[in-house]
Amino acid sequence: MTVTGLPEIELSVKELPVTARFAKLAEWAGAGLSRVTNSLLPGSCNFCQSPLPLSSSALCDLCIAELPHITTHCRRCSVPLVSAELCGNCQKKPPSFRRCISAFGYQAPVNSIIVRLKTDPYVAEINQLSALLARRIAATYHEAQLPCPLTLIPLPLHWLKMTRRSFNQSDIIARLVANHLHRQHRINVELRSDICKRIARGQTQHKLSAKQRRAAIANAFTAAAPTTLDLQGLSVAVIDDVVTTGATANSVATALLKAGAANVDIWSLARTSWNNSPR
Ligand SMILES: [Zn+2]
Ligand SMILES: [Zn+2]
Repeated sequence: MTVTGLPEIELSVKELPVTARFAKLAEWAGAGLSRVTNSLLPGSCNFCQSPLPLSSSALCDLCIAELPHITTHCRRCSVPLVSAELCGNCQKKPPSFRRCISAFGYQAPVNSIIVRLKTDPYVAEINQLSALLARRIAATYHEAQLPCPLTLIPLPLHWLKMTRRSFNQSDIIARLVANHLHRQHRINVELRSDICKRIARGQTQHKLSAKQRRAAIANAFTAAAPTTLDLQGLSVAVIDDVVTTGATANSVATALLKAGAANVDIWSLARTSWNNSPR
């Protein structure tokens, strides 16, 4: 099912009983239709209720300005810092990814938007957050005088989680960011979900310490170029909703480098800070 202006979601409802299948389809169809209707009528800001112009926006300019935008951060891993230097972790042990680009601190209200996206693929605010991430991505490569990677990989979910959830939230963000990069910044990235797989299911991440999480995630991904793509020497970007300790980002980057990629960059909507509880 595709709704104009919204990410394309593949429905995996074959496993459900017939009544549950119809209920699920009706629920999604209703949600999609209500978003389309809302986008055609003048609405109000989801946060402060002030009137919005006739558009598909969910938040007003004032509420967008008050989001926890990351200003100064580590040049490598994007953890918020008081100045744009290398953080202690990156100085001691540089990560395997080249750089991480994140738009927001993982704080209210961005954290609750990201949590909602895990169960609702139509979260209204996500399009505007993705547009702001696309703007930051374009500006970062422009300022660094580096070419933007043109191969974009949504961070894969383990197949079991994908079956349960029916959609990958990173795939939704990737589609929206690619669309904004194309329309607003004339950067054409190609989405590839066929390069990388998550092979380890992992445990409930928030119950683990940073050290335990790194150990659990270290070999969680495998990557191999399909016959239609030559990964050798290619710069790629992996997109995720939130980067916490950087262990997942490091693991997926290591797998892609092993498969032949020249550089792996990480793009994420949000980044936790050191005194910020993950997820
Ligand atoms: Zn507002
Ligand atoms: Zn760092």
